[in-house]
Amino acid sequence: MTFPNNKLKALTFSYDDGVEQDRRLVKLFNQYHLKCTFNLNSGILDSSSQWEEQGVCIKHMDVPGLKELYQGHEIAVHSLTHPWLEKESLETIRHEILQDKINLQTIFDCSIQGMAYPYGTYDDRVIQILKENNIKYARTTMDTENFNLQTNLLELKATCHHNNKNLMQLAKEFVAMNPTEQKIFYVWGHSYEFDVDKNWDVIENFCAFMSGRDDIFYGTNSEVLL
Ligand SMILES: [Zn+2]
Repeated sequence: MTFPNNKLKALTFSYDDGVEQDRRLVKLFNQYHLKCTFNLNSGILDSSSQWEEQGVCIKHMDVPGLKELYQGHEIAVHSLTHPWLEKESLETIRHEILQDKINLQTIFDCSIQGMAYPYGTYDDRVIQILKENNIKYARTTMDTENFNLQTNLLELKATCHHNNKNLMQLAKEFVAMNPTEQKIFYVWGHSYEFDVDKNWDVIENFCAFMSGRDDIFYGTNSEVLL
């Protein structure tokens, strides 16, 4: 198995929550021809849904214009209202996942295949509901710091969060490697963290370094994983 054009290396991103800062992040990914999967909570896609972290206002976006904003990237489930799923009843878990999938398919006129767990947490009931609803992969908040393919896509781990102190070291290793089997560099986070941490340079430098390489396939999560 290879990625398109017989490539053996792929880079993909996963960003959560659908907040205003996604606009700047999408622009950056588009500038470098990189592909991301955005995990959205369709029940709280509303600019009145907001909070503050270290003086930074973090606002969910309103639905109008989102289809155009995220054009070329993938949309995935992040639950309807971002609860701790494992604390909810079976009925609520099913509603949180299935209704989010249905809403997102309507808003974005696409077939939704993936998910990122809100807060990264889940239990066996959550996984069972994903299977019943044809969700093919679901991202946790754990980092492997490696590029190996994973067999359990419903408990998918990332290579690293963008704030991982080894991010650029891993990037250099990935660029230098000449694998004989498929390898994936998978980065996750929240775009608002760049405002809170005042470190947009981290993702700008990473994107600039990783982009435009002939031996790397740049795809969304589903393009890379499925
Ligand atoms: Zn989230």
